Amino acid sequence: MNRGANVDPAEIAKFEELASRWWDRNSEFKPLHDINPLRANFIDEHSPVAGRTLLDVGCGGGILAESMAQRGATVTGIDMGEAPLAVARLHLLESGVDVDYLQSTAEDLAAAHPGHFDIVCCLEMLEHVPEPDKVIAACAELTQPGGSLYFSTINRNPKAYAFAIIGAEHILQLLPVGTHEYDKFIKPSELAGWIRAAGLALDGMTGLTYNPLTRRYRLNPRDVSVNYMVRAVKPL
Ligand code: SAH
Repeated sequence: MNRGANVDPAEIAKFEELASRWWDRNSEFKPLHDINPLRANFIDEHSPVAGRTLLDVGCGGGILAESMAQRGATVTGIDMGEAPLAVARLHLLESGVDVDYLQSTAEDLAAAHPGHFDIVCCLEMLEHVPEPDKVIAACAELTQPGGSLYFSTINRNPKAYAFAIIGAEHILQLLPVGTHEYDKFIKPSELAGWIRAAGLALDGMTGLTYNPLTRRYRLNPRDVSVNYMVRAVKPL
C-alpha cells in the first residue's frame, strides 16, 4: 500500500476477515444482497448501463459489479482488500459474467486512466475511508465529461446511529459489532459539498429505508435519514 494512501488498514482488515462469506446471502453481507436490486435498478434507470464502461470503486466481493455486467456494462471493479478481490474473481466462474478486478485506490487509478469511464459507482465505501472528499475527487477525474457518478453512504444523526449501529449491529445482528463508526457517517450536505468541490453537479438523491418488521428495504426519495444514495454528473 502506498505510504500516505487514503486507506484505513483497520477498515480493510475487517472486510478481509469476512470475505469468504461475501456471496452467502445469509451472512454479514445479507444487507448488501438485499439492497442490490434496488440500487442496480436506480443506476440503470438513470444511466442505462448496457454498452457503457462502468467502474465500481470499493467493489468488495463484486455484488454490484456483477449485476452491472449482467446488464451489459463493461465493468472494472477496484478494491484495496485482497481477499474480497480473490472472492470476486472466483465468483465470476460461478456466474459466468466478466468483470476486470484490480487492487487499486480510486486515486491511483485516476492518475493512470483519467476520464476513462462512462459511469463511476462508489457504494457503501466512503464511510470506511479517512478522506472521503479525495475519493470523490478521484471518481470525478475517472469519469468522462457528461458521465454519471453514484455514491451511497450512511447519514449522521441520532436516528442513523439508532438504526445503523444499535439496530443493525446490536439488536438485529445483521452486521458484526464495529462494522460502522458513527463519526465516519456522512451528512447529505457534506457529501453535496464534496461533490460540488470536485466539479460535479448533484443530480438526485434517494433514501434506502429498512423496515425491521417486514425486513425489507425500499427506495424512498423522501427519507434520507439513514442509508441514502446520490447521483452526480460531470459537466461536458
Ligand atoms: N461497494 C460494495 C462493497 C462495500 S464494503 C458494495 O456495496 O456491495 C466496503 C469495501 O470498500 C470493502 O470491500 C473494502 O475493502 C473497500 N475499501 C475500503 N477502503 C477502501 C479504499 N480506500 N480503496 C478501495 N477500497 C476500499
